Amino acid sequence: MPELPEMENYRRLLCKQIKDKTITDIKINRDKSINVPISEFHEKVTGQTIVSIDRRGKHLLFHLQNGFYLLLHLMLGGTMYLGSQQDQPRRTKQVIFDFHNSELFFIGLRLGYLHLLTKEQVEEDFKELGPEPLDPSFTLETFKEIIGKKKGKLKLALVDQKFIAGIGNCYSDEICYHAQVLPTRKWNELSEEELEALFTSIKFVLNRALELGGYMEMPLYKLDQLTGGYNDHCFVYDREGEVCNRCGQSIVKIELSSRKCFYCLGCQR
Ligand SMILES: [Zn+2]
Repeated sequence: MPELPEMENYRRLLCKQIKDKTITDIKINRDKSINVPISEFHEKVTGQTIVSIDRRGKHLLFHLQNGFYLLLHLMLGGTMYLGSQQDQPRRTKQVIFDFHNSELFFIGLRLGYLHLLTKEQVEEDFKELGPEPLDPSFTLETFKEIIGKKKGKLKLALVDQKFIAGIGNCYSDEICYHAQVLPTRKWNELSEEELEALFTSIKFVLNRALELGGYMEMPLYKLDQLTGGYNDHCFVYDREGEVCNRCGQSIVKIELSSRKCFYCLGCQR
């Protein structure tokens, strides 16, 4: 499932391509991907210009000229492609936006969705989300505050969107690896130094992944050479049995509350 770096990468690339462009037509192939009747969606979205694109956690928010918002959550298996009838991926598209010269295809929106919302509804949807880890307001002090008296395992809190927004299965493991702590450790057992290392690693790992284009496998458009660049740079995620770049031991995989969890026993404590 795309996490903060993947969605922020999408946001930046989409801003360059479709910001200030008008959605001239819409095709909805799966009405469950949206939250209102297709006719209402058409009425409120067709002919609208995309004024801005924001991101909150793993969501993208398309701000329309008429004041409505489109809230996108790709969830597991969801992706996007900006192209034409000629170069589009041969996959089922649940929603298609036509921009006159190009089309934005929403693919694999099975669990994911594209909801038409008012500003108030967006605020309601976001009210329980935790802080944005790359925001300058997310400081070591904020981090220590939200940890409070947490007792559970590191990974399980890191993937909790109410704790911090935008981190999922991949980057929780990457962050723990970078901070040299085991994802199975408990918050109340961490030393002050380890907490500080975790904080530094949250910012470092997410920024690095973003610079490398995140891990989505498909490019966003034909000449996109950035998206997916992180795939070859994962420290531990999906690297079971491979050699740790830091200490040379084998990376192991376990299940933690039915989530895949990767780490190195050689250099994570
Ligand atoms: Zn290691």
